[in-house]
Amino acid sequence: MAMSEVNEDKHSLKRSFNEEEADSMRKREKVDNVSGSTSNDDQTTINASVKKHKPISSDLYLDTINRKLLDFDFEKVCSVSLTNLSVYACLVCGRYFQGRGPSSHAYFHALNDNHHVFVNCSTLKFYILPESYQVVSSALQDIAYVIKPTYTREEVAKLDRIPQVSYDLMHKPYVPGFVGLNNIQSNDYFNVILQLLSHVKPLRNYLLLNNFDGCPHIIQRLAITVRKIWNPKAFKGHVSPQELIHEVTLLSHKKYSMNEQKDPLEFVSWLLNTLHVSLGGKKSTMEKPTSIIHYNFQGHVRAESQKIRQHTENGDHVVFEGDRVIKTDIVPYLYLTLNLPPRPLFQDEFEGNIIPQVELVKLLEKYNGVTTQELSGMRRRFHLMNTPPYLLFHMKRFMKNNYFTERNPTIVTFPLDNLDMSPFIDDAFLKAHPKIIPRYNLIANVVYESVLSADGESHVFRVQLRNSASNKWYQIQDLYVEEISSDMINLGESLIQLWERVH
Ligand SMILES: [Zn+2]
Repeated sequence: MAMSEVNEDKHSLKRSFNEEEADSMRKREKVDNVSGSTSNDDQTTINASVKKHKPISSDLYLDTINRKLLDFDFEKVCSVSLTNLSVYACLVCGRYFQGRGPSSHAYFHALNDNHHVFVNCSTLKFYILPESYQVVSSALQDIAYVIKPTYTREEVAKLDRIPQVSYDLMHKPYVPGFVGLNNIQSNDYFNVILQLLSHVKPLRNYLLLNNFDGCPHIIQRLAITVRKIWNPKAFKGHVSPQELIHEVTLLSHKKYSMNEQKDPLEFVSWLLNTLHVSLGGKKSTMEKPTSIIHYNFQGHVRAESQKIRQHTENGDHVVFEGDRVIKTDIVPYLYLTLNLPPRPLFQDEFEGNIIPQVELVKLLEKYNGVTTQELSGMRRRFHLMNTPPYLLFHMKRFMKNNYFTERNPTIVTFPLDNLDMSPFIDDAFLKAHPKIIPRYNLIANVVYESVLSADGESHVFRVQLRNSASNKWYQIQDLYVEEISSDMINLGESLIQLWERVH
């Protein structure tokens, strides 16, 4: 059966519908056409019903489905009773209704509005109401797929190798994996992090391929959202992350919501820890990582610290002296903070408008085990004991003091490929793991921009993503997706970067 065309004139059904046929359909419990794949249970019942009834096409009803009105990204709650239990979507108008029994909201909607095709949002079974019989048809598979996209290992293996272009219902092209995300109110901080995480290949593949029924809601909703981002058969070329945000808002006790702009770094840190725990991860040790999150993001840094004593010599000469005791800690990390050089207080006439620049490798020297930092009476130095397959860098741009948050606009420059991390990693680790190449390619870059408008200064976060299949770069700010030249990547105020180890 061919995919049903969108029926612009729903009322044509009334005219073409033969009453006798309608009666015979009402009497039937199940419909033929078993070509769609369903669970074994369904298959048995349908086969049984096919024996009893003469197969009749359900095309008349299916033709009333309006795919352009269907949007399954929103919270599945009944539009009348607001319950989230046993919710059905009307495939004619796209609204959600509870139940399908003779006193349910879906049942009344079918009677009152003459809309007959429904899908159960959790079981993905299709029904004709008010008769309440199940329809199994290959013509409905595209709808089931949009609600919950599924992937085979072969399809996943191609995602980063074969460039792909898909077309939405309006025939607009989009690249699966590089689609816009709805900014409901102020959730661009959330969107850039979701985009970034959905490009961590092992995590993405894990979410695309596994069944998370019975897992914590945060994992289920993240998996569905990432599947939608990579959907090659989407009805529309963007995704609304609303259901995932709802769960995040609940779990974070409203700290992270769609209503208020937040620091994306604080959010990614919270999210990674929450996902680690939700996936059964344990407290971190130097031993094996206990979740896919720690496996991909966690490294260890050796931090040496020394107290600085201050005393006066010969009456007026102040001397700073390091304490003899050097304390050494091995600290796990999920991201590395890089400190920008302080902005010069005074710039001369010619340099007044020049934005300072610094190379990324210069910032990474913080972790070479030699450079020392002095902060609040302590002298400290850091050395990376190891690095994970995915490195997150945080450029510390915002300094809070008692009165306001000051931003450092220094531009960080970096290569897009083959960033050599070996000068910052302990030799012992590199020698013990000769197969690990300590070089990284940039995968995602979260950029900050301050926008001045009549209402004052506001923040905008956008993300630049590498498509490994085509080696093209995309810049995404909420719903706006544009292909950009790789030369553009170094120009913005980079805030968070995701680097992937070469293998
Ligand atoms: Zn309807």
